[in-house]
Amino acid sequence: MVQSSVLGFPRIGANREVKKAVEAYWAGKISADDLTKAAAEVKKTSWTSIKAHGVDFVPSGEFSLYDHVLDHSAAFNVIPKRYVGLGLSPLDVYFAMGRGRQAEGVDVPASEMKKWFDSNYHFVVPEFSEQTDFKLNFNKAVEEFKEAKAVGVNTRPVVLGPVSFLALGKAAKEASPGFQSVSLLPKLLPIYHTLLADLKAAGADWVQVDEPVLVLDSAANLEKQFTTAYTELAPIAPKILLTTYFSRLDSNLAFVSKLPVAGLHIDLDRAPGQLQEVVDAIKNTDIILSLGLVSGRNIWKTDFSAAIKLAQVAVHALGPERVIVATSSSLLHTPVTLASENKLTAEQKDWFSFALEKAEEVAIIAAVLSGSQDPKVATALEANKVSIAKRRAFEANSDDTVRKRVAAITDDQLERKSPFAVRKEIQAKHLNLPKFPTTTIGSFPQTKEIRLARAKLGKGELTTEQYEEFIKKEIQSVVRFQEKIGIDLLVHGEPERNDMVQYFGEQLHGFVFTQNAWVQSYGSRYVRPPIIVSDVSRPGPMTVKWSSYAQSITQKPMKGMLTGPVTILNWSFPRADVSRELQSKQLALALRDEVIDLEKAGINAIQVDEPAIREGLPLRRADWDAYLKWAVDSFKLATAGVTDQLQTHSHFCYSDFDDIFPSIQRLDADVISIEASKSDMKLLNTFKHYGYSNQIGPGVYDIHSPRVPGEQEIKDRLKSMLDILPDSLLFVNPDCGLKTRGWKETEASLINLVNGAKWARQNY
Ligand code: GLN
Ligand code: ZN
Repeated sequence: MVQSSVLGFPRIGANREVKKAVEAYWAGKISADDLTKAAAEVKKTSWTSIKAHGVDFVPSGEFSLYDHVLDHSAAFNVIPKRYVGLGLSPLDVYFAMGRGRQAEGVDVPASEMKKWFDSNYHFVVPEFSEQTDFKLNFNKAVEEFKEAKAVGVNTRPVVLGPVSFLALGKAAKEASPGFQSVSLLPKLLPIYHTLLADLKAAGADWVQVDEPVLVLDSAANLEKQFTTAYTELAPIAPKILLTTYFSRLDSNLAFVSKLPVAGLHIDLDRAPGQLQEVVDAIKNTDIILSLGLVSGRNIWKTDFSAAIKLAQVAVHALGPERVIVATSSSLLHTPVTLASENKLTAEQKDWFSFALEKAEEVAIIAAVLSGSQDPKVATALEANKVSIAKRRAFEANSDDTVRKRVAAITDDQLERKSPFAVRKEIQAKHLNLPKFPTTTIGSFPQTKEIRLARAKLGKGELTTEQYEEFIKKEIQSVVRFQEKIGIDLLVHGEPERNDMVQYFGEQLHGFVFTQNAWVQSYGSRYVRPPIIVSDVSRPGPMTVKWSSYAQSITQKPMKGMLTGPVTILNWSFPRADVSRELQSKQLALALRDEVIDLEKAGINAIQVDEPAIREGLPLRRADWDAYLKWAVDSFKLATAGVTDQLQTHSHFCYSDFDDIFPSIQRLDADVISIEASKSDMKLLNTFKHYGYSNQIGPGVYDIHSPRVPGEQEIKDRLKSMLDILPDSLLFVNPDCGLKTRGWKETEASLINLVNGAKWARQNY
């Protein structure tokens, strides 16, 4: 019998119950007990409904109130010193590590967060040093295994593997120079030993051990660690399913196939091409192969016949007893259920499959492969055939105008008329900005009033005219404020935008929106990505009205504000029937028209944000060049259609540029703003090292915290920046947009920022 499995499930609840409970707990409105109860309800619902769909392996232990990597750190006592001895309960220490804590005399910042591989999920980065004192504070895997058992579900617990846990962490401040986290493996393994032995004693037959770093090039250097770890753990543990996802094993397969594990999971959604070589490598072992056929990363219904065809390769070679049909990764990256969508048309609804529907998919595919005679299975198979055929027919409806335009893109369209040195002179005259121009990243505080007005518009309690009047007033006050404190290059503040991607998606053709398809981004922050379903085009201007209104009420130059093509693509659910490159280029053409329209409307500077360009980088280096080519080309296509006098800006939130620097230069934006306030000038040294030629606005203060930077602090910062960068290239701005901040700290911080720039003008 071919069995079925789900590797992990969303932990937010079908109605965002977990967010509500966690935030109520933070606000002191419910107790820790109430929070535990709310979480238990969500877990119970997930377990029982996955089981009810006929899935053989139901996951447990991967639920989280904040982040599963953070859970693991807390359980293993990997708790940075700054959170110890504050008199907090273990639960509050846990949340303090995730989000910082500023109350009752305690003031600790949050730990660093990083993107989880190439997804938009963020994990809390563990910190290791020689002093790390691993202890099993609690055995989450055992506790949740028992909790599930108590509600009648026998689960396969999920544990983050030892090598990935270490490799994903970073060296703590107190670590000696050159310290490598993986060197702690011998100290860590005894803890895993206890955890896994306890799990076996509790009756777990299998355990899913996630080692996602196995799909990275860097895992090639970890062969010894993997071999040691699994040789030691396998004999005392339940049967281990070694789990990889998001990319392919490639050359790491040579040692992975020799590990003494009972099962191996591979991602066939991202990397179907690896199936044959994996099958060949394990054929003469007893290893059971778990096939990640149902995507854990997208929301499209699985094409059963294609999945079955692929799975049969494994079934023929290994026999049905050695094959499991699974989701490609945890379903954490997908919304909970389609059942809560009642605004999608019946036709659209039939295209999609969210987490719960995907659970059913793995069960059906496994049943078909097992030769099930159940009429329900036959009906499901037939229904899938029909709906896939309908979707293929819809997908065949391409927009010829858009397709032809993409096919006709020329290299010329990617380049500005003159090189940066020439543009810089022209723009300096035209914009008449002082030395060290001050500007912001775009958004100003999204106040309660703004959100309320938008909600009222949605409910029909405000007319469009009333809402637009309201937005105009907001723009006026943001403009007046910037004039008053002496900002040089103004923004309109983005009050009309619900979200930097959704706002554009709603105005473009080719997108579909959901009501309830939330996905966790980090902690209690969930996003609701739009879905790209067909060719993208722009029926009309999207931002020109607001930007030109803002320009019309001031003498100072106004910066137009757009989200870039790669970011819109990355923060949406993309189509699976055409390449990301094609989708990105279509978005770029739509944005190019917008940029040109903005210039025609009298806007002289335009910022096109690309914070997601780095996160979209493929996991395997071999795939980088191809991605960077189309990603950078898309940005250039979007921005190069203007005259030399228009100053283009771009913004990146994350600042890991070392390895992709030439691509940042190739963007050829006149000005880029970057998050630099936390990176200790390391980043600016990178720019210097590579001789970056265009203008740069390294954030002079961190907007992710309500803290107001002092004037002296800003001057010091500018001073150290000017030690590295030439005077003529520096812009002065905050780190990122101000939408999540309050007005009070925004005012105080920006006044200090302007004073800092004035000081620099006098002293440099
Ligand atoms: N212009 C956007 C803002 O200011 C940029 C945000 C971002 O890059 N995350 O909010
Ligand atoms: Zn940003």
